[in-house]
Amino acid sequence: KVTQHIANAAGKSLFSFEILPPLKGQNIQCIFDNIEPLMEFKPPFIDVTYHREEYEYKELPNGLLEKKIVKKRPGTVGICSAIQNKYQVDAIPHILCGGFNREDTENFLIDMDFLGIDNVVALRGDAVKSEIYFKPEKEGNQYASELVTQINNLNNGIYLDADLQNTNKTNFCIGVAGYPEKHMEAPSLDSDIHFLKQKIKNGADYIITQMFFDNRKFFDFVAKCRKEGIEVPIIPGLKPISTKKQLNQIPHRFKVDLPDELIMEVVKAADNETVKEIGIEWCIAQSRELIAAGIPVLHYYSMGRSESIRKIAATVF
Ligand code: FAD
Repeated sequence: KVTQHIANAAGKSLFSFEILPPLKGQNIQCIFDNIEPLMEFKPPFIDVTYHREEYEYKELPNGLLEKKIVKKRPGTVGICSAIQNKYQVDAIPHILCGGFNREDTENFLIDMDFLGIDNVVALRGDAVKSEIYFKPEKEGNQYASELVTQINNLNNGIYLDADLQNTNKTNFCIGVAGYPEKHMEAPSLDSDIHFLKQKIKNGADYIITQMFFDNRKFFDFVAKCRKEGIEVPIIPGLKPISTKKQLNQIPHRFKVDLPDELIMEVVKAADNETVKEIGIEWCIAQSRELIAAGIPVLHYYSMGRSESIRKIAATVF
């Protein structure tokens, strides 16, 4: 369990990272090739994201649009199991409210339990591309806090079917998302933290944050959470910038700010190789400050590429 890894580390900061399932059509070796260079830094756990189906519209010869459901990155569960078997490291599947009704969720959790997966990160998921707001499935969970309740219920032997009560109890350690710069839909950081606290009350064991590029935002967020009585570990999410394009993409997609100093360095860079170096240096400086502050785990978003993360880990851990 993530919380046990933190307790066992006795104050030493741990290294962990997140990967994406590969695009459909690739094999498990590309996952192993991606994570292999990072294993020497002894991550106690690796997160694997979950990607729900998307709707695409294809124009037919008669001019009408055909709605197609596509799932571009399946395989979260299989990847977790393969990683656990090969590396004896805890693999953590992300699980969403979106695209699942509660019955699907229960069955997903039973699969995890049978595979010996003891950690999950419970998330709501984003709205699908064709919708503005997130819409839960019929009989599905609307907020991550409800999903946490369902997982916690199963940990206590409470199934959806009343006849099954107190049979097998699962044993999941539950992570949830936190947003140092608030979630994009939240009217304020205070309201977002109010609902974050609900996730903890419902049984979540720790928080992993959205990426941020200014440590002050993280430290202020942690202070606010503590003031509101949130006592669980808060794990910072870090991502090294690697292309000029990300200067626009990251603020747009994740609604996080980039510091002016970082922006100007990237703007002046001659090419993306230089941007990569700038991103690595920036992330190293962030990591060092977080470690000096005694943060229990640093969690890196690899986005399917390990090269920059390897360079950072080699310098910092
Ligand atoms: P919630 O905690 O449910 O919050 C969503 C919004 O609703 C917030 O604005 C919150 O303030 C508000 N809210 C919460 N409860 C209530 C309530 N009772 N009443 C009114 N408002 C409320 N997405 C993926 O698709 N796959 C992944 O693998 C994935 N991994 C992620 C990992 C991390 C660490 C992070 C930070 C995000 C990840 N995401 C992933 C993105 C995530 O799904 C989105 O950010 C999503 O929009 C919100 O998810 P959440 O779990 O934070 O939602």
